[in-house]
Amino acid sequence: MPVNILFSARPELWPVYQPLLTKGLSEAGLDFNLATELAPDQVDYAAYAPNGGLLDFTPYSRLKAVLSLWAGVETIAGNTTLTAPLARMVDHGLTQGMTEWVVGHVLRYHLGMDRHITAQDGVWIPDAPPLATERRVCVLGLGALGEAAAQALAALGFNVTGWSRSAKDIPGITCLHGDDGLQHALSRAEIVVLLLPDTPATENTLNADTLALLPKGACIINPGRGPLIDDEALLAALNTGHIGHATLDVFRVEPLPADHPYWAHPNVTVTPHIASETRPTTAAQVICENIRRGEAGEPFLHLVDRNLGY
Ligand code: NDP
Repeated sequence: MPVNILFSARPELWPVYQPLLTKGLSEAGLDFNLATELAPDQVDYAAYAPNGGLLDFTPYSRLKAVLSLWAGVETIAGNTTLTAPLARMVDHGLTQGMTEWVVGHVLRYHLGMDRHITAQDGVWIPDAPPLATERRVCVLGLGALGEAAAQALAALGFNVTGWSRSAKDIPGITCLHGDDGLQHALSRAEIVVLLLPDTPATENTLNADTLALLPKGACIINPGRGPLIDDEALLAALNTGHIGHATLDVFRVEPLPADHPYWAHPNVTVTPHIASETRPTTAAQVICENIRRGEAGEPFLHLVDRNLGY
């Protein structure tokens, strides 16, 4: 019996993934049937992006796993009709892209690039930027993406503190966890990077109280998810100058409405959820490896803890 694999994502992704998945599954020695439409009760695996439309998993009675094409699984993790295992995407290409984006935006703040890019005003102020060793960066979330970004920043010499739910020991990074850890991490951070998942526990991680912990003029970079930040509190902190600048890639509502105050705020940079994306070439390998594992009776990679939501 072939393994039946449903590809459920935006239609334009099918011609990209179909040959990559076919190659990977063939190399794994699997007898398979890969399609964008299958009878629900015949589906063994679903390679799935939430915008693909699968909302009710009840008829998918023999599903062995849902394999998300996305790293963020907040729209699937809470779906109670899904009883099969859910794996999220950890993709080398996605991680590399996020690391580049985070490092670029941290360097923008660290080097004070805006001052020179926007102020071609004939005024000569020869203030050299400090070294990275003198700059304290805090990365909230030390998972696949946060750890890679933190390590890249540390490799450049930045003084990096990371914060996660569980205790960690990452060479070159001061690792903190828990409520006390967050307070400590924020109270010394000049630049904060949010790479937490969107879960009930992480909503409004940056709120009026936690923003107040940051040193005056601190900058915020959010490529995680919009709900991690209380927008009203951030706008208030930007307006008083307590927060110097924010670069926001993700929002509670996307696309960010044209009349949202973030667009017009002089101290906000909006990017349209482009910090990184799943790269089909490397992501297809992850999907194929998980199907191979499932068929071999081996544990799946990157399983989501449905109770924690990530
Ligand atoms: P992971 O699941 O690998 O890592 C999540 C990290 O957050 C872990 O370190 C985890 O702690 C920590 N965390 C979770 N809950 C809490 C909590 N309550 N308190 C403190 N720390 C917590 O995720 P990824 O690194 O792969 O991805 C992170 C997020 O990045 C995704 O969920 C997604 O929202 C976003 N993303 C954004 C993209 C973009 O283009 N803007 C692209 C891809 C992803 P612990 O290690 O202890 O479990």
